[in-house]
Amino acid sequence: MSKLVALCKRRGIVFQSSEIYGGVGSTFDYGPPGVEMKNNIARLWWQDMTFRHENIVGLDSAVILHPRVWETSGHVKKFHEEFIECRNCKKRFKSEDLFSIAKESFIRYIDAHLHKKPIQPKDMIITGEFLNRYINELDNELSQHPGELSDSFIDNIVNTFVDTIVRNLKHVTCPNCNETGFLTDPRNFQLMFKSNIGVVEDESNLIFFRPETAQGMYVDYRIVQESSRLKVPFGIAQIGKAFRIEITPGNFIFRTREFEQMEMQFFVRPGETSEWLQYWKEQRWNWYLSMGASPDKLRWAQHPQDKLPHYAREAWDVEYEFPFGWSELEGVHDRGEYDLKAHQEASGKDMTYFDDEQKARYIPHIVETSAGLNRTMLMLLCDAYREDVQAGESRVYLALDPKVAPVKAAIFPLVKKDGLAEIARAVADDLRGRWPVFYDAQGSIGRRYRRQDEIGTPYAFTIDYQTKDDGTVTVRWRDTLEQERIGKDRIGDFLIEKFGRL
Ligand code: ATP
Repeated sequence: MSKLVALCKRRGIVFQSSEIYGGVGSTFDYGPPGVEMKNNIARLWWQDMTFRHENIVGLDSAVILHPRVWETSGHVKKFHEEFIECRNCKKRFKSEDLFSIAKESFIRYIDAHLHKKPIQPKDMIITGEFLNRYINELDNELSQHPGELSDSFIDNIVNTFVDTIVRNLKHVTCPNCNETGFLTDPRNFQLMFKSNIGVVEDESNLIFFRPETAQGMYVDYRIVQESSRLKVPFGIAQIGKAFRIEITPGNFIFRTREFEQMEMQFFVRPGETSEWLQYWKEQRWNWYLSMGASPDKLRWAQHPQDKLPHYAREAWDVEYEFPFGWSELEGVHDRGEYDLKAHQEASGKDMTYFDDEQKARYIPHIVETSAGLNRTMLMLLCDAYREDVQAGESRVYLALDPKVAPVKAAIFPLVKKDGLAEIARAVADDLRGRWPVFYDAQGSIGRRYRRQDEIGTPYAFTIDYQTKDDGTVTVRWRDTLEQERIGKDRIGDFLIEKFGRL
């Protein structure tokens, strides 16, 4: 990750926001190649949803919705996280993360004790008097039942240990700074950003920044359906910013407080959510493959019934194996009638739909696909990052699918003099407007190639002395460095052949 973060900064792809003031925690700016790449991903998602499905339409709803939307959706009451802070090192942990670190340490601790292996100091997560209690219990059990301990005994002791931790945080060692006695009690935190509308700050004009784009699609569903004369099943797609006061932001642009979502809400007949959930799982999987993601680094993970988000009846995540481990890229959820029904009850407005085929009136059920734009970009960057050695020199390149690459072709004159720069500029100007191309005449040709490799430009065309004789140029392919000569008038056709019109 640190190499990728350095590359992104070096090439102005993504970097810390407000850096001249030391930056704001976990907010990032997308520089020239970064914004092109992000726009490409958004455009490809949009095309996949709205161009390819005649029954999916777009929407751009506001970031600030009526505060009652968030009461009704359950976010005011349920969109909370519990966290524990270390007063010594100031590190914050989601409670569940801290408890699972403690649990893993304890499992290693008893394993070491049982197999007479050395105990790692970092596994002494709670002060000795507490650990001894468990060790005595283990030894007692062993003396009564020599041989292996039963799984249920181990499970039981581990669960009791986790309960002990929850109630005795002042005896627990911080896994970050290894000091004991500094962890606070768990505190609940509302994850929505708040502000006030108008000049006076009071409860009456409190507003929230949306933590998901979905609610805008629910509250507007009737007007969109009626104005576009849509029939169930149909979908509404939206790309936009969302905001969450994440307690543990991090991993570069993986988890930030301001981010973009690409969400599609699909309205279906009650009783048909399972088959649509299946359909959308397949569609979304294939979309990631079409973006060039490695299939062996993608997988599905289902949320267990007791860990479902408050609105979902069934929830699946597409996960990617990032350098920091398998993590969520997108959620595909069966939200049932939860949201529309709640809005109907709270607003008193009719949210039903009349199905003239079935001659029935009902509240449509919803299957949602909810992807992160920034996360998708991070995934594609991680997936494309390559290092190799060419003629004794190491190089870094991004093997991005040409569809998502920020620049499609670089045009270089071998040298600036002897009229080569003029020919190269004319070639670049001819292509500009059809594709994002980059003209560069400065510095050694090798360095110019490497700069383009680092932002994933698939093809570089070099105008040299031979161009003046026979009108041909050299094409160099980023991944293999293979070169061939083609007529300079054929560059446009060559690019169309390689990746079509944009
Ligand atoms: P996580 O478990 O990672 O916090 P989540 O389950 O809360 O994610 P959802 O509410 O399902 O996420 O949001 C849908 C998608 O929005 C996520 O799959 C992710 O791609 C994106 N997303 C959510 N929170 C963030 C964030 N803080 N930064 C960047 N992207 C995010």
